[in-house]
Amino acid sequence: MDISTLQDEARDLLDETVALRRTLHSWPELGNDLPITRENVLESLDGLPLGLTLHETTSGIAAMLEGDLPGPTVLLRADMDALPMPEDTGLEFASRIDNAMHACGHDTHTAMLTGAAKLLAARKADLPGRVLFMFQPGEEGFGGARYMLDEGLLNLPARSDGSESPLTGAYALHITSNLPSGWIASKGGPIMASSDRMRITVTGRGGHASQPHAALDPIPIACEIVQSMQTMITRSIDVFDPAVVTVGRITAGTTSNVIPETAIIEGTIRAVSERTRAKVYAGIRRVVEGIAAAHDAAAEVVFDDGYPVTVNNPGSADFSLGVAREVLGDGAVVRMPNPVMGAEDFSYVLNRVPGSMMFLGGTPLDRDLSKAAPNHSNRVYIDEQAMVQGMSVYAAMALRHLAPVNEA
Ligand SMILES: [Zn+2]
Ligand SMILES: [Zn+2]
Repeated sequence: MDISTLQDEARDLLDETVALRRTLHSWPELGNDLPITRENVLESLDGLPLGLTLHETTSGIAAMLEGDLPGPTVLLRADMDALPMPEDTGLEFASRIDNAMHACGHDTHTAMLTGAAKLLAARKADLPGRVLFMFQPGEEGFGGARYMLDEGLLNLPARSDGSESPLTGAYALHITSNLPSGWIASKGGPIMASSDRMRITVTGRGGHASQPHAALDPIPIACEIVQSMQTMITRSIDVFDPAVVTVGRITAGTTSNVIPETAIIEGTIRAVSERTRAKVYAGIRRVVEGIAAAHDAAAEVVFDDGYPVTVNNPGSADFSLGVAREVLGDGAVVRMPNPVMGAEDFSYVLNRVPGSMMFLGGTPLDRDLSKAAPNHSNRVYIDEQAMVQGMSVYAAMALRHLAPVNEA
């Protein structure tokens, strides 16, 4: 199947894709309930030959394109939610909602995936299999992908002719200000970290600050726990399978001459393998309980499990980098040396289906990358031209997955 014209076709779709992106950008929505966003996506998909499933537990949309030829199904994902923060870009289409901003570029993902749906729908007659477009809410910590899976996203019906069409691959793009506009980067194996929260309560006995022996001061115990957790990380975690534990908050006491009863430690845990993630959990529990016991205090650790490690299937990652090179040329495709320590709930999909996540550059070519405001910044700026490459790569992934070159 010919993919050499995809970029030209995507360029023809750029105006309408930019228009949709700007509408979404002006009206950002948070979490799993995105009614305005859903309406805009449905309007953009209107008239395309898609089987639509509107999810009920969230604003998720599953749109199925059935090619006229038999074959398997491939999934393409875009996330649709924004972040709870003010926008200070000064753009004419900046957010019109207080304390909500598309600062992670999910507006571009959503717009690009509708563009890819148009590119692929135009090839329906020659398409050997199906493409499942997953428009998910709630990526920014709300587990939107997991809700869609729980609601049966991957329980695919047979094709309309009765033949089976199993899901054999899943791909997602994430725009980033860390790469030049239109470039693609990815890697096999772990590409993004797990992200969990911890809350530790150290309980002693309150008393007069002048008589610590008559009380049981939780503050030095909490300090020792914070220090020892860092020692535990560097001395027991393999540096080539790393983890990060950051204490972002310690709360204890009310004034200088009172020993409080409790001290609370809160932080985040990142790892790039489930093995290390489990090891860090166990290590934190051991350090907290051991140090508290050494000082005759009590301590409790509560972990709040976030997203798992996002792991690209190595073969799928090689495949996606190869497809990106075929579409964009060698110069715009990068194999990443390391994962990034952010997290992504596409991980839930990749735990079920082999596939890969890729990054798409969004910083204009004439700007200094090191000075570009990062994703999640109130000033992040995305070059809309990059959506041409994004739409083309999305569509090419599906086409090459369903019709590999060597079998075409
Ligand atoms: Zn984000
Ligand atoms: Zn994001």
